This record gives sequence, C-alpha cells and structure tokens, in this order.
Amino acid sequence: MHRETRAARLTAPAPGQPVTVPLYQTSNFRFESPQELTRAMSDPDSFAYSGYGNPTNRALEQAMADLEQGEKALVTASGSSALSTVLQTILRHGDHIIAQKALYGGTVAMFNHLADRWGIEVTYVDGVDPAEVSTALRPSTKLLFLETIANPIGHVPDLPALAAEAKQNGLLTAVDSTFATPLLCRPIEHGADIVIHSATKYLGGHHDVVGGVAVFADEALYRQAWKHAINLGVVADPFAAWLIIRGLKTLPLRVNRACESAAMLAERMAAHPAVSAVHYPGLPTHASHARATKLLSGYGAIIATEVTDAQQFMGNLELIMNASSLGGTETTVMHPATTSHRHLTADELRTAGVSQNMVRIAVGVEHPDDLWADIEQALSPARTSRA
Ligand SMILES: *Cc1c(COP(=O)(O)O)cnc(C)c1O
Repeated sequence: MHRETRAARLTAPAPGQPVTVPLYQTSNFRFESPQELTRAMSDPDSFAYSGYGNPTNRALEQAMADLEQGEKALVTASGSSALSTVLQTILRHGDHIIAQKALYGGTVAMFNHLADRWGIEVTYVDGVDPAEVSTALRPSTKLLFLETIANPIGHVPDLPALAAEAKQNGLLTAVDSTFATPLLCRPIEHGADIVIHSATKYLGGHHDVVGGVAVFADEALYRQAWKHAINLGVVADPFAAWLIIRGLKTLPLRVNRACESAAMLAERMAAHPAVSAVHYPGLPTHASHARATKLLSGYGAIIATEVTDAQQFMGNLELIMNASSLGGTETTVMHPATTSHRHLTADELRTAGVSQNMVRIAVGVEHPDDLWADIEQALSPARTSRA
C-alpha cells in the first residue's frame, strides 16, 4: 500500500475494536507474578512501566518503523533526546564523528558539549563527495552524521554515496531527517542505519507537541538504544505520542501542500527586487538542486531567504508568525543567527551557511496566495518606510 494510506491507517483494528489508537494514560502495568514483572522489565516488547514503553508509544513506533522502512523505532520526549540517545548508544569517550557542516544549531551545540565533556571530536565535511569521509577517517571514528535537508539553508548531502563509504569503513550512519519526513526520503533505503526525527515538527504537525523518534535498521542497535533512553529518562509521554499519531495521519496532506506552496513562494521571492538570495533546494540555482532531485520526492517546505533588513521584514509580517518552531499548520518565520543557531560562533555560522540577514520561512498549509500577499507587503518599500 502507498505511504499515504499507511500513514492514515496506523492500525488495522478487528471488528469491535476502536478505529483510532487509544491513549494508554498509565505509568504502571499489572502482572500475574513477580517473575513476570521481572521478565517484562528487561524486554522492550513488553510493557512494565511507561518510562520504558507504552502501548500508545508502541503504535507510533511501529508506524514510524514501517514508514521509514526500518526494523524498530523508539519514541522519545523530543528530537534532541532522540539525538542524545543515539549518540550515547554509539559513542564512547574519545570517539570521533564525521558530520556535515550544515546542521541544526542544537546538534552543533550537542557536539560541542560532547567534545568538551567527553572528548568526542567532530570533523565537519561538505557532504557532497564520499572521499571526504575517507579523508576525515580516524581509528576512533564511529559515526557519520547527516541531515537529509539541512536546517536552514536546504543543503542536501549525497547520502547514498557517503553512507556507502561509511559502511565500507565500519562506521554507522545516522541521518536527521526532520525536514524530509518519511514522505520525501527514507534514509534507510539509501544505506543509513538510524533515522532521527524531531516529531515536534512535521510528524506532530500542529505546533502542539514536543517529541522525537529514532528509527533503526537493525534490531540489536534498537535494543541498546532502548536501554540508553531509559537511563536518560527520555521515553516519550503517551499523550505526546498520541498527539503525534493524530498528526501523522495527515502528514501526507500537510507535507504535500506545504512543499507545493514553498516551491511557489521560493520562485516568487527569488524574482523580487528586495530579496538578495533564496536558498531552497527546489530552485535550479541551489547548489544541492541536482542531488535533491535525485534523492527526494519533494524539496521540503523550508526556505531560507536573505533580505536587506531581516528584522524589519519579519516585523512587517502580519499573517506569518514570528515563532521558533516549524513544521506545523501555521507558517512561521525565524532569524536563525539569533535563535536556532545563536550558540554558534561567527566561524560556525559561516560553516553552517547562516548569514545575519537570513530569514527562515517554514511554510505551513495556509492558502499560498495569502502567504505571498503577506510576504509581498512585508517586503514592499512603502511598508518598510512606514515601519
Ligand atoms: C527541531 C529540530 C531538532 C530538535 O528537536 P526538538 O524536538 O526541538 O528537541 C533536531 N533536528 C532538527 C533538524 C530540528 O529541526
């Protein structure tokens, strides 16, 4: 069946059973005997305590493993905790990571923390040539870390080539695929071992829940990650999982709409005299356009644009909201240099491709003509001089 159908129908209930996934709002589960409880507590397939797992979470985990073509998935309290769980599962003191340069700011901050406290070093590469992996390789290298579509400039790495090179050298490949969602790309199909999502974004999709998912190609690695998630205390709350399930059912509708609107807005902005640059992988002028066309079945809904006065443009917007997060029904804008990427040094900002006059537009599901009207009025000189 198509991905759209599988997302819309997470479960196949028997007659007499509920059509939707019930919310198991319980922290505890009862057992027949103390032996059964003991056994359940070390079995990820059982439910002993909701800090370990929960039937509502499990429905989401199965749906995400299915949509991502993985073996198992783990739902966590946030995208960041999915990331820290994966890093703690794979890395030890003194290990080395090869990561692409254009990354979510929080990921860079986490890597810096690991370097500072655990001596884990990172070599940043462009992510366009597999030779970059072999050149950066050290005896201590354990992990290749990529983003399918990088936040915010839309850089798309050559995932299949880099993951193949990583595998050849005994590394695991983890991909943050938050911006792509399982609709636009399934990194595991291209050689990744782990896929990470901030479910706060498109999977939840309504600006009402914080959550994360890690999908594993290999069951053994999932079992290790499950133990680390318990140690970190980041297994998702069932109500959060329930909201993400509710969002997931309409993921295809929302993502397709947002991608179409983003393509239209990117094109119009690129032609506007007050816009000096538009970074959207769907535009033929984008450095990643050819790779994106090969790897993705859509170019995503994030546009990074450079305007003369970012603060003024953002202040002028009326329909589009200044807000930190993205991927929900409402379109949001943010100034990466002073928000998502605020922990980065000037050098790190340059490496991530983030400039001071850059605005990130995360396109939602409103009518694209209304979004364009708002962008156009916010860019207009008349509006600007009045402001
Ligand atoms: C938001 C985001 C994260 C972090 O997820 P949280 O749910 O906010 O913890 C990680 N990666 C990317 C690409 C993101 O956009």
